[in-house]
Amino acid sequence: MIYFFVIYSFGSSSQLLYCRSCDILIVMKFESIIQLKDVEFSYPAQVEAAAPAKALDGISLDIERGSFVAIVGSNGSGKSTLAKHFNALLLPGGGEVIVCGMKTSDPECTWEIRRRCGMVFQNPDNQLVSSVVEDDVAFGPENIGVEPLRIRELVDESLKAVGMYEHRKKGPHLLSGGQKQRVAIAGVLAMQPECIVFDEPTAMLDPAGRRDILKIIEALHEEGKTVILITHFMEEAALAERVIVLEGGRVAFDEAPDKLFSRAAELEKYKLGLPFAASMAQKLRALGLKVPEGTITQEGLADFICR
Ligand code: ADP
Ligand code: MG
Repeated sequence: MIYFFVIYSFGSSSQLLYCRSCDILIVMKFESIIQLKDVEFSYPAQVEAAAPAKALDGISLDIERGSFVAIVGSNGSGKSTLAKHFNALLLPGGGEVIVCGMKTSDPECTWEIRRRCGMVFQNPDNQLVSSVVEDDVAFGPENIGVEPLRIRELVDESLKAVGMYEHRKKGPHLLSGGQKQRVAIAGVLAMQPECIVFDEPTAMLDPAGRRDILKIIEALHEEGKTVILITHFMEEAALAERVIVLEGGRVAFDEAPDKLFSRAAELEKYKLGLPFAASMAQKLRALGLKVPEGTITQEGLADFICR
């Protein structure tokens, strides 16, 4: 028996699957962890300017719980401003942001939203506050009144998850940039967040430091956390399940990376390149090789070449 399915999408949070052979309709709904509805935001300097440009200009998004989403865009496109709306560091000037069912505009929800949706920034030096690694990781849970024995467990588990347990007694100033960033991630993990937003976490790291952070990000996604990765590196965006391209505070593209990176000419307009493997695949195609569309990772390209 052959089954024919037709898929209808409604917004970004539900799909209808209709089986034409057996006349059955299946509703598939995904659980949102973050929802933005027509979000606008302007910094005070932008409001004062004669012709104000908004940092966010009408953004509507639905982020699925447990998904891995990358956000890319040229400098000033609004990525960091958007990220700060995900955990109530900034509040929308228009529209609304709902995180884990709570409105960020409700002041009673601010701390719970920040606990459930942690943030890791570009510069690890700005995120570490203590002179001993394990004290730094304990800082968050201590602040929300977690009992001491549980804090010990959370600190140990979080440091082990980022491979920094052996360094727990050291001063952060003795660590490399990549190691400091891993401690910053452990500090967020110790709060047991459901979602972690990484704002260019590898921008200041050497290649080895970058690889370590990406492995941790992928592991966090595999164990079920929602991961949002803001990045300038298209290779990193290619690891995600969904890539959102921002331009001028608006969503320019929102799709799977294999689809997005088949639009080389359009991406160039937004000053965005391709991941190395996608660009190589394009060159091989121009030479007549039939590299399948959607080849965007080095593994995929190596696989094609070997076969
Ligand atoms: P991105 O992270 O994509 O580089 P940002 O979110 O930092 O972009 O910035 C979006 C826009 O808001 C830019 O035009 C930027 O100049 C402006 N902006 C960012 N931070 C501030 C600020 N603190 N005060 C005034 N304007 C800002
Ligand atoms: Mg930024």
